[in-house]
Amino acid sequence: MFEKVLIANRGEIALRIHRACKEMGIQTVAVHSEADEEAMHVRLADESVCIGPAASKDSYLNIPAIISAATITNADAIHPGFGFLSENSNFAQMVEEHDLTFIGPSAEHIKLMGDKITAKVTAKELGIPVVPGSEGEVVDEDHAIEIARSIGFPVIIKAASGGGGKGMKIARSEEEFREVLPLAKTEAKNNFGNEAVYMEKYLQRPRHIEIQVIGDHHGNVVHLGERDCSLQRRHQKVLEEAPSPALNDQQREKIGMTAVKAMTKLGYRNAGTIEFLFEDGEFYFIEMNTRIQVEHPVTEEITGIDLICEQIRVASGAPLSFTQEEIKRRGHAIECRVNAENAFTFVPSPGRITDYHAPGGLSVRVDSAMYSGYSIPPYYDSMVAKLIVHGKTRNECIMRLRRALEEYAIGGIETTLPLHRAIIEQTDFINGDYDIHWLEKFVANRSEEVKKTA
Ligand code: ADP
Repeated sequence: MFEKVLIANRGEIALRIHRACKEMGIQTVAVHSEADEEAMHVRLADESVCIGPAASKDSYLNIPAIISAATITNADAIHPGFGFLSENSNFAQMVEEHDLTFIGPSAEHIKLMGDKITAKVTAKELGIPVVPGSEGEVVDEDHAIEIARSIGFPVIIKAASGGGGKGMKIARSEEEFREVLPLAKTEAKNNFGNEAVYMEKYLQRPRHIEIQVIGDHHGNVVHLGERDCSLQRRHQKVLEEAPSPALNDQQREKIGMTAVKAMTKLGYRNAGTIEFLFEDGEFYFIEMNTRIQVEHPVTEEITGIDLICEQIRVASGAPLSFTQEEIKRRGHAIECRVNAENAFTFVPSPGRITDYHAPGGLSVRVDSAMYSGYSIPPYYDSMVAKLIVHGKTRNECIMRLRRALEEYAIGGIETTLPLHRAIIEQTDFINGDYDIHWLEKFVANRSEEVKKTA
């Protein structure tokens, strides 16, 4: 096992990894930018190294600085968390070349799944159902239109190197397709440095269902069930739950085993998530994330498995500590992402936290690096906390979540807590009856109402 792990991240996920390491008797090294000197992950780590100025490109994305920090502190391994360098195959490779262990999949698999076109082709080859669309990159406009006609409009044009819900354009007709294709390519080039785009059928009312997998270096791969992440805004997840209210056990088992079979064939190791859209009883692959995800705690809550510990274990060469049969799902879990922004306009709201009271009690978990007096810097992602609640049933979980949301007090900044409080009161949510477009409509209606009463 490793003696010392460097955590190449910040915020709640850096803290989450630190906690897993400590429980395994592993020393931790935090890295931080000049803006994060006072951050909780820095305060709690055994050692810390400043790796550069505030801008991410100079610090959390600065590969030489991070590898030097690992070398001078004598770390054995690097955990990348999510975001930043977690899906940078170059980084994974350089870490290994410096005799350090990258806590994640192989650089080759990161690269394969990092390009959404090769990922989709690979998924299809591995027997995973995909969304109908162009076979690979859209090169010839007329040919693409022919395909669009055969699968039916609307279609969605997506950037091969896209991420974070960015770089997608919907075309409802041939004319619109011709209009938006060049825009999509230019935007892809400007945002992701790669103009390659592909096209797929735009599903009208799907749910976003994803399967958590983890594999070791001995050929074992298991799945830990699904998460339903359909509540999204601008294609970004807002609230996630497990199990999905939309799946029955048969569907759950079938898609889980499809994922396991495919990942075993691929020789995948460490944690990963295969994302699907689910409509009319069918699953369609959209992408694979080769890292731990923000919403991993809901899976942890219903399985009792610490996914970060398991990532560290398998990276050190140990076999998975459980078999597929030993994974038992229990009850229901929901996660609310709390962002430092206005709950309905989503305008960012960084600044100093004047008061802070986190909820607690049975089956209430808060993953956050916030504290009273802390100043949220304006340079990074706006997610500042995750509230995760477990219950024996979905109903109990929602009741507990309601009381936890009532208790949660964050003063000095605006947060998305009021949005969560509003969502969980909606009949559609209570009935589990929502798709990926539900939240956009809810927020739009809400804004209309506010305008009318103003
Ligand atoms: P990213 O890597 O940017 O997160 P994804 O491919 O995972 O992009 O898609 C993000 C979200 O965009 C999905 O969860 C879904 O809400 C929406 N989306 C993606 N593809 C489609 C599609 N073919 N039809 C309808 N919605 C889609």
